[in-house]
Amino acid sequence: MKMEYRNHKPYQTVDVFYKTLFGHKVYKVSLNGGFTCPNRDGKLGKGGCIYCSDMGSGDFAGSRNQPLELQYEQGKAMMAKKWPNGKPIVYFQANTNTYAPLSKLKELYEHALTLDKDIVGISIATRPDCLEDEVIDYLETLNRKYFVSVELGLETIHESSLLFINRCHGPNEFKEAVRRLRLRNLHTVAHIINGLPGEDKPMMLETIRFLNQLDIQGIKIHMLYIASNSRLSNVYRNNPFPLLTKQEYCDIVASQIEIMRPDLIIYRLTGDAPKDKLIAPLWTLKKFTITNDIEKLLRERKSYQGRICQDDQNH
Ligand code: SF4
Repeated sequence: MKMEYRNHKPYQTVDVFYKTLFGHKVYKVSLNGGFTCPNRDGKLGKGGCIYCSDMGSGDFAGSRNQPLELQYEQGKAMMAKKWPNGKPIVYFQANTNTYAPLSKLKELYEHALTLDKDIVGISIATRPDCLEDEVIDYLETLNRKYFVSVELGLETIHESSLLFINRCHGPNEFKEAVRRLRLRNLHTVAHIINGLPGEDKPMMLETIRFLNQLDIQGIKIHMLYIASNSRLSNVYRNNPFPLLTKQEYCDIVASQIEIMRPDLIIYRLTGDAPKDKLIAPLWTLKKFTITNDIEKLLRERKSYQGRICQDDQNH
């Protein structure tokens, strides 16, 4: 098979995707809409996902106590320093951002989208089991005017891990949510977590094979980290379990990219907690070196996204 490097990268980057779609650089401004989560308040589960921080996994979003205007202003100022010619997408990241009555969602999303004339779209992070029909209908309407992206947590397809992390849904709910979102042509991005205790490399590759079958457009890959403001930190302190080394992580992600559908946009190759909250592994703080190492590994293997076809996925 011919070696394919898109824009000098061995994988499909979100930067190139945005530039192709909008014709310019696009960055995200994270906002905290003051949502909660049905996996915390007992509607779907209690206690939340074990790795989730007390900020609802939105530690880099603004404070829920600040008005959206202020959050946006501060977030944009930071981003615009790096990319003065870029345009923003507003990103509802903390907690479950569709967990509210439709009228509240409309008010919040539309308020956010009109904070600045430069805003080109909205990205909404949520759970697959928290998408009412009327919400999807509304997002379809919104998508006619703005770029709308829905980020859905899958994390893993493995039952034992899903129980351990207290995810309170499985791959079937995820599959069904993707089907319903795609019926309305909504851009859908999956989140996964590598390095969950008890998962080996073949299991993590299996999660990618599952996603390859679905009509998603993008993927975010995270390394499991222990944040002091999560329930996982207690589990880890009482009973430390092995975490992936940086080398192991890079090898796994490079192999995931090799078997990944070539059209999938890679939104993230790793994630990190705020420095003052991170207990382990400390190497996750060095995001750029992780991305570089994964890229280097793919080049050394003379490989790239989707190089290994479905029939050959056995390494
Ligand atoms: S990770 Fe998402 S679904 Fe899980 S508890 Fe946190 S906000 Fe809720």
